[in-house]
Amino acid sequence: METVELFSAEGKGRGLKATKEQWAGDVIFAERAYAAVVFDSLTHLVCHTCFKRHEKLHRCGQCKFAHYCDRTCQKEGWAKHKSECSAVKKQGKAPNENIRLAAQILWRIEREGGGLTEGSLVSIDELQNHVEHFGDEEKKELRVDLESFLEFWPPNSKQFGMQYISHILGVINCNGFTLSDQRGLQAVGVGIFPNLCMVNHDCWPNCSVIFNNGNHEAVRSLFHTQMRIELRALGKISPGEELTVSYVDFLNVGEDRRQQLKKQYYFDCTCQHCQKGIKDDLMLAVKEGGEKPSQETVKEIIQYSKDTLEKIDKARSEGVYHEVVKLCRECLAKQEAILGDTNIYLLRILSILSEVLSYLQHINEAAGCSKRMVDGYVPCVFSRRWNCACSSRMNLCTTK
Ligand SMILES: [Zn+2]
Ligand SMILES: [Zn+2]
Ligand SMILES: [Zn+2]
Repeated sequence: METVELFSAEGKGRGLKATKEQWAGDVIFAERAYAAVVFDSLTHLVCHTCFKRHEKLHRCGQCKFAHYCDRTCQKEGWAKHKSECSAVKKQGKAPNENIRLAAQILWRIEREGGGLTEGSLVSIDELQNHVEHFGDEEKKELRVDLESFLEFWPPNSKQFGMQYISHILGVINCNGFTLSDQRGLQAVGVGIFPNLCMVNHDCWPNCSVIFNNGNHEAVRSLFHTQMRIELRALGKISPGEELTVSYVDFLNVGEDRRQQLKKQYYFDCTCQHCQKGIKDDLMLAVKEGGEKPSQETVKEIIQYSKDTLEKIDKARSEGVYHEVVKLCRECLAKQEAILGDTNIYLLRILSILSEVLSYLQHINEAAGCSKRMVDGYVPCVFSRRWNCACSSRMNLCTTK
């Protein structure tokens, strides 16, 4: 980890800053999961070691619960699965993903101790849990999780206090990072990456996180790579600059972003973009030329878009891609009459549509959507011009 260092970020607790210059696309660091589990609904469809999705997976003969691409993935996952395997076998079924992840973390602590692991800047003990900020509903969920955890945790494993188990469940709640399958189309699991947890949020981040499932295809195991996340620079970063990612979709209207951050991460965002409301007008643009649509009409179409995006999410998580396409096309037809080219709700639909269409091999239509999407993102956010002298994309403009 010679590319980053921990520091105390003003008003934000700890943070990470760069120690070396980085350029767009550079991998600042890669990190393996401290622990990770497949979502409940996909445990038989996704490999429990590398999180790739396959038609045919190899099942653990002992618990019949864990699934793997092949023997290589099974062997690699065994150290982590061993205790889980006998606990699942004993209980006759596996508990939910939160409990499984908490158990994976605690078994690792049992094996290695709670201190720093190799390559980590912080230990699990030091991660934030926000349990003290929980509302009634969240406290109730925590109690239910604690109960099912205790039911699942074997008496012959190391015993932990209730407070410590609550800490782990709290850490999962606010630090869990979503993992995707090898096509990047579907969220398939959740993992804890301690170093990544140290990267603070900004609504206009200078880094993004990419999930890499790893690769075992080479004949020689020397060339195999393991599942990991990669923190990549989005543009030039100077030594000493704080590294940031966006905890929420940063292409979201300021108010929505702040609401989501408060709800899930318990802080009020005070970043530049939030303070100055930068981009909000572009992201809410309505169609120009002709009669300006009424506020009421705009409100309606935005609500309709939000509802459709929820339906799309659901269809996507179920892998029903033709339904996703249908929903996108219907929504787009309605949006086009009212919303401007830079409107975030229109761009979001275009983005999903182009991604899913290219997966379905409708290349021409996919390319058309991508072109429109890129054009929508092009106007410079600082100069508000389509052809700003900085001649870079909206998200990389450096002209202030
Ligand atoms: Zn695998
Ligand atoms: Zn097993
Ligand atoms: Zn912000």
